[in-house]
Amino acid sequence: MLPEIAAAVSATRNLAAFFKTFAAVTTDEKVREAIIDAQNQIIELQSQVFEANSRYEEQAAQLNTVRKRLDELESWKRESDRYEQFEKSDGFTAFRLKDPQSRTEKFLWFCPRCFANHKLSAFQRLVAGVDEFTCPECELKCFSASR
Ligand SMILES: [Zn+2]
Repeated sequence: MLPEIAAAVSATRNLAAFFKTFAAVTTDEKVREAIIDAQNQIIELQSQVFEANSRYEEQAAQLNTVRKRLDELESWKRESDRYEQFEKSDGFTAFRLKDPQSRTEKFLWFCPRCFANHKLSAFQRLVAGVDEFTCPECELKCFSASR
């Protein structure tokens, strides 16, 4: 609960206690009726404060979800900027690191279908000596340019 909302709840509780005390000591029936009316309004106000708190908490949860998604997208954007699309073989494109740091990284080709889904999945050769590669994530097949 926000401190401001907690303060409003506390203030309405104090007002309700004040009116209860005031109603107990007054002998004037018209004053007593006015106090009862004020107490009812306080109860309504408390209800509205709790409703406002519920809406606030609901929106805070939604905002948290949106922030998480934005963080994921920003993280993927930073990661994906390290890759470039290239034509692996006739009409077939894949992704590779723009600046590979090792021979192993230089020959890693990443699946375009998985890349579109914000995943990095490197093609793997299934049979030694055969120029056929498969994405282990989505099973997309790719043939080398020599085929
Ligand atoms: Zn894939």
